[in-house]
Amino acid sequence: MHETAIVAGLMRIIERHAAQHGVRHVKSVRVKVGRLRAVEPQQLCSCFEMFAEGTVADGAQLIIDVVDVRGRCRTCATEFVIPRYHFECPHCAGKDIDVIQGQELYIESFEANDSGAADENPDRSA
Ligand SMILES: [Zn+2]
Repeated sequence: MHETAIVAGLMRIIERHAAQHGVRHVKSVRVKVGRLRAVEPQQLCSCFEMFAEGTVADGAQLIIDVVDVRGRCRTCATEFVIPRYHFECPHCAGKDIDVIQGQELYIESFEANDSGAADENPDRSA
C-alpha cells in the first residue's frame, strides 16, 4: 500500500515546517490529492494517524481535497474533466489528450494549535 510512503513524505515536510515556524502542535493538515494518484482517503487518514503519533502532528486532523483529472485535447485544445479514466475529447472525440491536472500530491496548508498561524506556502515538492 503506497499510502505509507506518501504519509512518510508528508510527515517529513510537516515536521520540518513545524520546526522552522516554532510550532509545537499541528491541529490540522490539508492536502491536495489528484485522482490519478489512486489514493484511498480512508487509508491515508488511518495511516497518517499512525505516523503522527508522538510527533508534532499527534491527533491532528488530515483534510483531503481530491482533485479531478483534467485533460487538454491536442487536436482542438478543449479542456475538460476526465471521468473514470475515459481519455477522449468531448468536443472532437480525439484521443490525443494531455493530462493537465489530477496528479497533485502536496500539502496545501496546515494549522497550528499554539501560534494559530497557518502556513500558506509549504513545500510542494513532496
Ligand atoms: Zn478535441
